[in-house]
Amino acid sequence: MSRIIYLDNNATTQCVPAVVEAMLPYFSEKYGNASSMHNFGGENRHVIDVARHQVAQLINAQYDDEIIFTSCASESDNTAVFSAVRTQPQKKHIITSAVEHPAVMEPFRYLQTQGYKVDYIGVDAFGRFNMEQFKQVISQDTALVSVMWANSETGTIFPIAEIAKIAHEYGAVMHTDAVQAVGKIPVDVVAAGVDMLSLSAHKFHGPKGIGVLYVKRGTRFLPYLMGGHQEKQRRAGTENVPYIVGLAKAAELAQKRLSDGTMAKVAALRDQLEQGILQTIPDVKVNGDTAHRVPNTTNVSFGYIEGESILMFLNEFGICASSGSACTSGSLEPSHVLRAMGVPFQFAHGSVRFSLSDQTTQADIDTVLKELPPIIERLRKISPFSRLA
Ligand code: PLP
Repeated sequence: MSRIIYLDNNATTQCVPAVVEAMLPYFSEKYGNASSMHNFGGENRHVIDVARHQVAQLINAQYDDEIIFTSCASESDNTAVFSAVRTQPQKKHIITSAVEHPAVMEPFRYLQTQGYKVDYIGVDAFGRFNMEQFKQVISQDTALVSVMWANSETGTIFPIAEIAKIAHEYGAVMHTDAVQAVGKIPVDVVAAGVDMLSLSAHKFHGPKGIGVLYVKRGTRFLPYLMGGHQEKQRRAGTENVPYIVGLAKAAELAQKRLSDGTMAKVAALRDQLEQGILQTIPDVKVNGDTAHRVPNTTNVSFGYIEGESILMFLNEFGICASSGSACTSGSLEPSHVLRAMGVPFQFAHGSVRFSLSDQTTQADIDTVLKELPPIIERLRKISPFSRLA
């Protein structure tokens, strides 16, 4: 296969060789069940404890037992939402944002069908959280506020500490889906003042299929998966030792990247890409709050053409990116994030998300900046929307 230029790291990242190497012994050599009485299995209990400590450090959790291993961030999100409402049955109001990942959005929609009053807080044209609306709708009846730390599509960072402070003034539980923030920017659960937080290993060079739900000590909690006594009866299921080890190794590497200047280099390449596009291609807009963004993401709208067509042409050069629209029932619908931001139709359809990582090179960016302008020009020539412009 020819070389891949992988700029879709918000979808998933490479599980790096150091992580794979750390995981390997736990598949077929040290395969004992961590809950077993014998030493062969019991030794893996210690391995899990060490991993739990590593992950706690990454997000500055004060106690290792605040870390619950799950099968993915979708499970963490579902667990958080249902725990918060089930532990406060007297409250019937929940709040989230209009730009969440479906792993939060769908549980909220479900609870709405079950009689909960739900407020979806809007965003402005830059994707910024509408704090005024939030302050207006929150009340003593609010059981849960769940707001993402960073947006998957635009990278926009929300003021989680400020939101958590207000949530607590009304006695609500504060959950944040930090999947797109962890490993990219410092995430500190104490400074942010959150009660629950979700993360996923495969977004920072760990394996797919392993996540974490952080639950602050003292937070009332009910499990989502019931069965065995694992994770102090908070998440049933035999511990996935190889993946837990992989997550911990990825957490260790991520922590290093956050302190050694790596992420600043990623941001510099992202900015170079963005500026290069803006300077060479007309009718382009950057979506999101460029002053408060994770360092690896840029979401660019190319007016009057479709994101999917751009991706297909980029694919021919081995360039992987994502579009901000989803093909539903044969028609291309702009993403709910861009719709919530009010991005005009002719721009929302032509949006492309480039998400970099520490593996992205200068040569990658140079190639994209060389190949992209002629692709856009070619597509605009054949686009029916261009003629309307
Ligand atoms: N939340 C956000 C913001 C995400 O970007 C994703 C993955 O795309 C998820 C949740 C789901 O994570 P997982 O694939 O671990 O279920």
